[in-house]
Amino acid sequence: SVIVVGSANQDYVMSIDALPAPGETRLAESFQKFPGGKGANQAVACARLGVPVSLVGAVGDDADGALIIRDLRSEGIDTSEIEITTSERTGMAIVSVLPGGENTVTVVPGANFTLAPARITRAVQRLAADESIVVVQAEIPVECIEATVLAASAVGARPVLNLAPFVELDAETIGRADPLVVNEVEAAFLTGYVIDGPALAQRAAEDIARRARSAVITLGAAGASWASAEASGVVPALPVANVVDTTGAGDAFIGAVAAMFTEGSSLENAVRVGVEVGALAVTRVGAQASYPLREEVRQLAAT
Ligand code: ADP
Repeated sequence: SVIVVGSANQDYVMSIDALPAPGETRLAESFQKFPGGKGANQAVACARLGVPVSLVGAVGDDADGALIIRDLRSEGIDTSEIEITTSERTGMAIVSVLPGGENTVTVVPGANFTLAPARITRAVQRLAADESIVVVQAEIPVECIEATVLAASAVGARPVLNLAPFVELDAETIGRADPLVVNEVEAAFLTGYVIDGPALAQRAAEDIARRARSAVITLGAAGASWASAEASGVVPALPVANVVDTTGAGDAFIGAVAAMFTEGSSLENAVRVGVEVGALAVTRVGAQASYPLREEVRQLAAT
């Protein structure tokens, strides 16, 4: 099974022709609400591939929180370790989409930041066994990320650490990550150099894998590079004729990688499926709404 420890948000997405300057008021063209948060996104991406998933997290005691829990349950995700807190509202992201698809995002962590390490340790101990995959990202307090990875290792589960957004973590936590997954921006923070081209992407994955157990760097339209102690490589992206919306593509990739690990996939093979799922996700609008079912991935792989 897969246990995802992480954020669940409501995304408030507005389309606007230009961002307001300080002191200015503008009218948006449209508005929509979507379920989001890296933790919830990755849990949904994984569950769509037919794998049993639990999400460990926190929402507020409000309508958004109730909606998030209902949506996750409708995906078949176990929500028994999602705490409903009265001290903070459900986390949210305010997204402004500009003409051409570029966006700016402001996240209000809210309930996600009420998560405490002791509760996470208990939840991981209850849910995870030695064949489990435990996935965590960085939209929760740093102590919670470290507690997740430590608790996963302690029960013999495999910790997948997605360092997004980038935060400084202790070397021991990084050292247990198998793999540490980052995008190009986060990889630059880790390595100190900018990734330009596949050769450098592979080298960066190798550099990161010397600090972690293994490493994956997602490269957008260039695919993903990976490295373990034994081997490394680059998996090119699948060509996508019309990219509609890249929101949540990285989360789709990570959900797929975790799902493949439950079936005993090698790192390289898991990255291959992650690239396929990422390609499908960018052909549709939204994050969770764009994630494919197992059957669609099978059909894509067969073509
Ligand atoms: P993030 O959104 O976290 O920055 P990426 O943009 O690297 O993540 O996307 C994650 C994965 O989705 C990539 O590794 C790639 O396989 C796939 N992907 C993203 N953008 C495209 C694209 N334009 N064409 C094909 N695949 C893509």
